Amino acid sequence: MPADLDALRADLERLDGRGYGGYKRLRDGRWAWEHGELAVVRVQADPFAPPSRLQVRVPPEVAGLPDDLLASRPRRRGVADALVRATAAALGTGRDAPFSVDTGGQQVLARSAIHVAPDGAVTLRLAVALPADGRRIRGRHAADLLTRQLPAAVAQGLRWTTADHERVRAGAEVCEDAAALRGQLGDLGLVAFVADGAVLPRRSGVDDRPLTGSGVVPFAAPTSLARTVTLPNAGAVTGMGVPEGVTVVVGGGYHGKSTLLRALERGVYDHVPGDGRERCVTRPDAVAIRAEDGRRVARVDVSRFVGALPTGASTADFSSEDASGSTSQAAATVEALEAGADALLIDEDTAATNLMVRDVRMQRLVAAEAEPLTPFTDLARSLHRDRGVSTVLVAGGSGDAFDVADTVIRLHAFTASEVTGDAHAIAAAVPGREGGARAFPPVPARVPDPASVPVRHKGKPAVTPRGAGALRVGPATVDLAAVNQLVDPSLTAGVGQALRRLVEDGLLDGSATLAEALAALAQALGEEPAEALAARWAGDVAAPRHHEVAAALNRLRTLEVRAPGAQRAERPS
Ligand code: ADP
Ligand code: MG
Repeated sequence: MPADLDALRADLERLDGRGYGGYKRLRDGRWAWEHGELAVVRVQADPFAPPSRLQVRVPPEVAGLPDDLLASRPRRRGVADALVRATAAALGTGRDAPFSVDTGGQQVLARSAIHVAPDGAVTLRLAVALPADGRRIRGRHAADLLTRQLPAAVAQGLRWTTADHERVRAGAEVCEDAAALRGQLGDLGLVAFVADGAVLPRRSGVDDRPLTGSGVVPFAAPTSLARTVTLPNAGAVTGMGVPEGVTVVVGGGYHGKSTLLRALERGVYDHVPGDGRERCVTRPDAVAIRAEDGRRVARVDVSRFVGALPTGASTADFSSEDASGSTSQAAATVEALEAGADALLIDEDTAATNLMVRDVRMQRLVAAEAEPLTPFTDLARSLHRDRGVSTVLVAGGSGDAFDVADTVIRLHAFTASEVTGDAHAIAAAVPGREGGARAFPPVPARVPDPASVPVRHKGKPAVTPRGAGALRVGPATVDLAAVNQLVDPSLTAGVGQALRRLVEDGLLDGSATLAEALAALAQALGEEPAEALAARWAGDVAAPRHHEVAAALNRLRTLEVRAPGAQRAERPS
């Protein structure tokens, strides 16, 4: 039986003025009050250590959430998101606030900070910096935080009676619609859908909220690409369907091409009501691809892109500690396919030019034998026809892709039109590069060696997120800054916990291929992946896609892989 909250208050007041270590006695404690139960999961060792971790459970009858809002997983995710934001607001945020709650940004992700169960029980996980005066416990202040401020915020934020009903309902409906739309894309033969009226531009490169003001041009579908879908809450919605196959986005500089592609990249996630991209949705297995020179590559078959290298190194089994722009992008493409991508999103701004295009003049000057690279455009058709992988390519600088494009979308002053016919006519009249389509054979499987993924060090977990763009794994830092779809630090933390699962639970066992291990991971994490990932780590996590887990594994500087069936390398003992 948990003690009641009055006992905690008395305890904390008694600790007032004692040494900071006195807080340790709170660990694993549980205290109940009329609205729920508080548990202290972890206690910081000193005032400057990472904050202590708390968990609050509110039973279904106290939360009082209406049944219809609990009826599906996307609904519960949207409800949870609205509740956690309201609770964080009630707790007060800001730099020096004692509490911190992982509310996330514009995406609605399954995150450990909040969980709404099918029966309506709510779990909140948060951090608190336990207060000190120097190294002495400020017990009365701590009592105020834990036994007055926190319960007040819970009463305000996590109960239907005090909730902003419209906002919670909107959260549920927006998520449900986005998930339903994403689920329809395959049947509709679409890679993505962008609703009319969507607001794609953001306030700035560091502010993901929607751009506002009279200069914003809401999205409008070109008539020829307009599709109408039916969503559970919004009903009939019209927008642009991006068809399967090869889609090229053209237009002058500063006309909104990258903004559209960015929205497609993020369309694998749901967005909060009011974001502008609520109905801008992309297939779950769409992966952003870019050049990333300097990254590591572990035995990837890039031979379809890269022929004989001047060094004589085999490109069918290519490794590098310092890949070039083109080889890094070739590797990223092959790795994405290995992990099951069915759409690739590529922006000229971040692609390796020599992997994307090679014009007639350059072909004349540099003979084919001297150029090891096969441009992506020669492979794009086969990628779709033979491998079932679509491409959306932003190309403002070269028309080489016109020959292979199924759809060409032009952006002019942020307004889309379809110019496929014109592009094909130009391709017929004006010769492009010489040479042509090449086949994209199946991607060979690789078997990662779990011993090369140091998720534990000296018997302890050794995986620590470093913001959204890096992850510390054992002695090394994995640079994830170029993994565009890791859009939230908690996703990166989730990737770290997923790597632990892969190794600690034996999903990578030295004989499972990477794809098999990722499938086993999805199975192991089940229907509530954020809850599963939170089980062994007190910090905040959000559930990542397996594509981002693979991206981290592939960038790990220690990773060793072999071909299936090949002998495991002997390790010196
Ligand atoms: P491109 O890739 O074609 O060069 P960008 O997508 O980078 O262009 O967009 C250029 C600028 O225009 C960015 O600052 C972006 O925020 C803004 N922008 C993009 N789309 C819109 C829009 N629909 N309405 C208003 N501004 C937009
Ligand atoms: Mg651009």
